[in-house]
Amino acid sequence: MSYDPTNIFAKILKGELPCHRVFEDETALVMMDIFPQSKGHTLVIPKAASRNLLDADPAVLSAVMPLVQRVARSVQSATGADGIRLAQFNEAPAGQTVFHLHFHLIPAYEGQNLGA
Ligand code: 5GP
Repeated sequence: MSYDPTNIFAKILKGELPCHRVFEDETALVMMDIFPQSKGHTLVIPKAASRNLLDADPAVLSAVMPLVQRVARSVQSATGADGIRLAQFNEAPAGQTVFHLHFHLIPAYEGQNLGA
């Protein structure tokens, strides 16, 4: 499967569509998920054009993973969550719906069932 530059996250990265932006640097954009699975559901979107983990440049992953950790810590501290789920899906059968690499940070709260 090849990268489709018209995907919704590519449009957000280009500023063609709005988002609730939390942070941005040369590597990635961090924004709130429009349909949060829990309070504080945040997405880290590397700027480099890749469809998902399967075609991503390892150098991009090396650059973005420290940011994913920083955002996880910030989300935990901002929400008071009891845990943070890191999720990432590759291709439609695995649950991917937007075909630009991204990482979900989903706060988990005691007594709440996030599902499998
Ligand atoms: P996936 O299933 O591809 O891993 O997740 C895509 C995520 O992007 C979903 O959680 C969905 O709610 C979110 N999403 C889809 N469209 C938009 C949008 O236009 N803006 C934002 N902020 N999130 C979106």
